[in-house]
Amino acid sequence: LIEITEVRKAFGDNEVLKGINLNIEPGEVIAIIGKSGSGKSTLLRCINGLETINAGSIAVAGAQLLPDELHLRALRLKVGMIFQQFNLFPHLTVGGNVMVSQTVVKKTAKDQAEAMARKMLDRVGLGHKFDAYPDELSGGQQQRVAIARALAMEPIALLCDEITSALDPELVQEVLAVVRELAAEGMTLVMVTHEMKFARDVCSRVVFMHQGRVHEIGPPEDVFSNPQTAELKQFLGML
Ligand code: ATP
Ligand code: MG
Repeated sequence: LIEITEVRKAFGDNEVLKGINLNIEPGEVIAIIGKSGSGKSTLLRCINGLETINAGSIAVAGAQLLPDELHLRALRLKVGMIFQQFNLFPHLTVGGNVMVSQTVVKKTAKDQAEAMARKMLDRVGLGHKFDAYPDELSGGQQQRVAIARALAMEPIALLCDEITSALDPELVQEVLAVVRELAAEGMTLVMVTHEMKFARDVCSRVVFMHQGRVHEIGPPEDVFSNPQTAELKQFLGML
């Protein structure tokens, strides 16, 4: 579904991605782990075209990612992204937040966007909050609204960048439960996460990034229980 081939990305003379290869199959749930600065967020941002790459190629659902604006906009419609910060519009209701990208970006008719918003808010367990404002919700609820907003665009894959890192510990599980359900329904997910237990339970493969490269990759039981490199052992606290 997502084919990443020899991807390089530099900011000035700082090469952050040094030849990334990764093929993600439909329905896979990939966890990306690694130290701060290893290039995890940059890789996600390249996948949905928020950054242009310097070399290599990325194809999504068979279509090459080309660095022209029209193309990138089409891609961002297909691949959803959720961030650590929820970025909801404070002046819009929960329902309005889930509707706005549909009506503005996709030009979906208002009643259709509303029906989709209600459906997706139900899916994340927040159908009853349609008319509430973001500041009336907990952080976990706000993040679930952000997930509903992404789902309303009917993405073929969802990229999640540390989506539970800004949450109080007691709110983390409700967000992970939603992600777990999406995974069970077959959504393709690529998640940068520090939730190792979640990665172990839910992910098909774990990618360990180190200094801009995929340093180790494999099923969670291998990566977590039988790491091959000193760098991964150290990251996992085994050295
Ligand atoms: P973290 O765990 O802290 O989120 P990360 O693995 O997501 O780290 P990235 O955010 O991908 O790391 O950053 C990798 C490197 O790229 C860092 O050295 C960072 O300073 C640099 N970098 C990222 N974005 C930019 C940018 N827009 N301009 C310049 N340098 C950048
Ligand atoms: Mg990051």
